[in-house]
Amino acid sequence: MNNKKAQSILIVGGGIGGLSTAIALRQQGFDVELIELNPEWTVYGVGIIQQGNVVREMARLGVANDCMKHGFSFDKVRLCDGAGNPLAIIPGARVAGPDYPVNMALPRIALHTILLNKATELGTKITLGLTVDSLENGENKAFVKFSDGRDGEYDLVIGADGIFSKIRALLFGSHLKPKFTGQGGWRCNMPRTQEVDCLTMYRGRNGGQAGFCPLTNDLMYLLQTTSEPGNPWFDQDKLDVLFKERLAEFEGPVARARDEFITNPKQVIYKPFETIFLEAPWYQGRFVLIGDAAHATTPHLGQGAGMAIEDGIVLAEELKAKSVDQALESFMTRRFERCKFIVNSSLQIGTWELERNHTADFNGLVQKMVEVTAQPI
Ligand SMILES: Cc1cc2nc3c(=O)[nH]c(=O)nc-3n(C[C@H](O)[C@H](O)[C@H](O)COP(=O)(O)OP(=O)(O)OC[C@H]3O[C@@H](n4cnc5c(N)ncnc54)[C@H](O)[C@@H]3O)c2cc1C
Repeated sequence: MNNKKAQSILIVGGGIGGLSTAIALRQQGFDVELIELNPEWTVYGVGIIQQGNVVREMARLGVANDCMKHGFSFDKVRLCDGAGNPLAIIPGARVAGPDYPVNMALPRIALHTILLNKATELGTKITLGLTVDSLENGENKAFVKFSDGRDGEYDLVIGADGIFSKIRALLFGSHLKPKFTGQGGWRCNMPRTQEVDCLTMYRGRNGGQAGFCPLTNDLMYLLQTTSEPGNPWFDQDKLDVLFKERLAEFEGPVARARDEFITNPKQVIYKPFETIFLEAPWYQGRFVLIGDAAHATTPHLGQGAGMAIEDGIVLAEELKAKSVDQALESFMTRRFERCKFIVNSSLQIGTWELERNHTADFNGLVQKMVEVTAQPI
C-alpha cells in the first residue's frame, strides 16, 4: 500500500455527481480538472427531487440556499385517489436541520447551473467537448489519453460519466451493461396549480400511479411510471399522444392537466428505467467510479442523484484525511451498502408495481429508506 495523498484529480463527466464532487474536492483544496463529453451544457430531464439527506449535503456544499431560492420546498407527500380526494398525508423529518425543508424540488437546469457556478467559482478547471480515449494505471499515477490527442497524468481519476460510463467499460470491461427493468417514466412541465404544494400522487382506476411535483412557484411537472414491455422505441413526435393514452385511467386533477397541458411532444420526456450495480470495489488502482457509473437506480425512491452527490462528498473527505489507497478502501466501506440498499429497494418497488401487487408494503419500504438515508454518510 502506498501512503501518498492525492493532489491532482481529474473528473470525467459534468453531471450532478461530477459537479458536486468537484465542489467537494475544491473545498478540501485539491487541484481539480473536470471534462465533459458534451460540447455545450445541455441538461436532459425535467425536475429533480432532493430529500432531506440530500438537502443536508447540498448545505455542506454551500448550494442549498440557492436551490431553495430557485426551487420549491415542501415537508410532506400527499396521496390521493384517482379523482383527487386526499387519502393520506405522509409527513417527513427535517434531516438537514430546522432551517431546511424535508424535501426540495427544482428544475434540472437550475440545479445544474447552481452546481456549475459553484464549481467554477471555486476554481475547477472545466473543459467541454472532451473525453478519455484510453487509460492506464501507473504505480502511483493515473495516465489518460484525451480525445483531443493530449496526454494527462493525475493522482486520481474519477469516472462520473453516468449510466453508460466509458470509464467503467475501460476499467472493468464493456460486458457490464445497464439492464432495462420493464418500466419507463413520463414527465411534462406545466403551470403549477395552488393545491399542488407538495409531491402529490394519485392512483388511477386500474391501479396505475401518476402525480404532480412542484418545481417553482409557477411550475410543476406531471409524472407517471408505466409498464413498457420489451423496451419499445417511441416516435419523438408522438410522445404527447402516447403520454395521454397512458393517463387515460385518471380523472380529476390529472385528467384536467392531461387534457389542457400535454399538447406538445417536445415538452414530454420519456425515459426507460435502466439499472446497473457494480460489485465492490468500484475502483482499480488510481481510477474510481461514482454515481450512476457505479450504481444507477430507478427513480422510485428519488435518490439516484442524491447517492451521486453523497459519493462525491465522502470521497473528498476520505482523500483529505488519507492516502489514495486507504481513501478508496474507506470510500467503498462507507458507500457500498447504502447505495446497494437504494438500488435494491427501488427495484423492489418497480417489481411490485409490475406485478400489480397492491398488498405489498410500499409505505413501509419508503419509511425504511427515509430512516436509512437519515443516517450520517
Ligand atoms: C426519470 C428519472 C427521474 C429521476 N428523478 C430523480 C430525482 O427526483 N431525484 C434523484 O436524486 N435522482 C433522480 N433520478 C436519478 C438521477 O437522474 C441520476 O442518478 C443522476 O443524474 C446521476 O448523476 P451522475 O452525475 O452520476 O450521472 P449523469 O447525471 O448521467 O451525468 C453524467 C455526465 O457525464 C457526461 N459523460 C457521459 N459520458 C462521458 C464521457 N465518455 N466523457 C465525458 N463525459 C461524459 C454526460 O454528458 C453527463 O453530463 C432520476 C432518474 C430518472 C431516469
